[in-house]
Amino acid sequence: MSTIIYPTTNLKATETLTLERGDGAYVYDNQGKQYFEALAGLWCTSLGYNNRELIDTVNQQMGQLSYSHMFGGKTHQVGMDLSEKLSAMVPVENAKVFFGNSGSDANDTHIKMLRYYFNAIGKPEKYKIIARDRAYHGVTVAAASLTGLVPNHTHFDLPFEALGILRTDAPHYYRGALPGETEEQFVDRITNNLEQMILAEGADTIAAFIAEPITGASGVIVPPKGYYEKVQAILNKYDILFWADEVITGFGRTGNDFGSRTMGIENPAMMTLAKQLSSAYMPISASVIRGDMYEAMIEPSAQVGVFGHGYTYSGHPVACAVALKTLEIYERDNIFGHAAEMGDYMQKRLREFADHPLVGEIRGEGMIAAIEMVANKATGKAFEGGAVGGFAMQACQNHGMITRAVAGSSLAFCPPLIINKDQVDEMIEKLSKGLDDTLDFVTREGLL
Ligand code: PMP
Repeated sequence: MSTIIYPTTNLKATETLTLERGDGAYVYDNQGKQYFEALAGLWCTSLGYNNRELIDTVNQQMGQLSYSHMFGGKTHQVGMDLSEKLSAMVPVENAKVFFGNSGSDANDTHIKMLRYYFNAIGKPEKYKIIARDRAYHGVTVAAASLTGLVPNHTHFDLPFEALGILRTDAPHYYRGALPGETEEQFVDRITNNLEQMILAEGADTIAAFIAEPITGASGVIVPPKGYYEKVQAILNKYDILFWADEVITGFGRTGNDFGSRTMGIENPAMMTLAKQLSSAYMPISASVIRGDMYEAMIEPSAQVGVFGHGYTYSGHPVACAVALKTLEIYERDNIFGHAAEMGDYMQKRLREFADHPLVGEIRGEGMIAAIEMVANKATGKAFEGGAVGGFAMQACQNHGMITRAVAGSSLAFCPPLIINKDQVDEMIEKLSKGLDDTLDFVTREGLL
């Protein structure tokens, strides 16, 4: 397998897939085989591959100023333009933007800014963060501690205790409801659990609640109606900030510009952005905070001499230039409107699998979705381990489609936002073949 230590890979496995090039919504391996990219890489290549304008932008900026940092107030026009544009776009009041390189480091930045802010306003004891079960917020020590998935903790001695991460329920009705519980009762119960935890911990010790408006890596969980309304009411009551991790749901993915908008999350105090910010042509992330938080951070930074946080590549000019161009293309070509339309069509077509014997739940919003395969359709009994998900993913790959098995036995769909109706149809056809192969497999193995 070469000398590479592969990320998020079974290190015992020997299978690799060598990709050589990409074009539009397709990638090609080193044998020339074409694959429809049904997950847009890792939920990120919104404008697809080989976009001439983005490539030209990278080349142009490389030639003009290939690198500059932002320490000590050094800046450049593309960085300032990008920040202005983002700040005007996000549903965060008087938004201020800190640039990073990945979703994980952006979430670390947010944790540090929360501490900086609450220290600045004389509430140093208000540092704990509520994160949800099955959340995905990245893999650095702090971000992985926010993440609520077993493989990201086990053998790493995480979560890191000193961070004060509190854990609350995942809003997944299909998997989390008690027998006979309605959606409304489920929402009441888990939001009541949240409130009880806040009371037990002490609201004055809790800084923020972090949520992906719709989750990605944990299986595309779309919370039931009323969930965020209730959560926000509780957070407001106890003066706890809402932190939206929009690394996947940002930029047109869910049928609106931001997932917060789709899910009725009002004026989050902080927002994490990455991935589709640059259509993944260059690594870049943004930690966005409300203007009043920034104002409070000014004085303490003056006392110390600096706001002592920053990466070598914070505001990398090539990454900023390509992100700025990406946002311009989103606007000019009405990409979010197109994605909303294609998303409706994709959701409709995916629901045609409702009667498939393997399919337990189909969920999603806009251009993000998952199909959960189950051992017993009537009871929703899950398959044990990851074998069925892994098989289905491989079966789809054999039929020329790249997807990803998430949360054990769910297949995720998050194609580039630029796809057309025919490509949605192509995706559905390939999925149909992959599911049928998987049904043969589980029948053969006696798993159904
Ligand atoms: N937050 C969310 C919601 C994510 O989906 C991801 C990555 N899938 C991250 C954070 C971490 O981003 P990165 O892999 O760029 O560190």
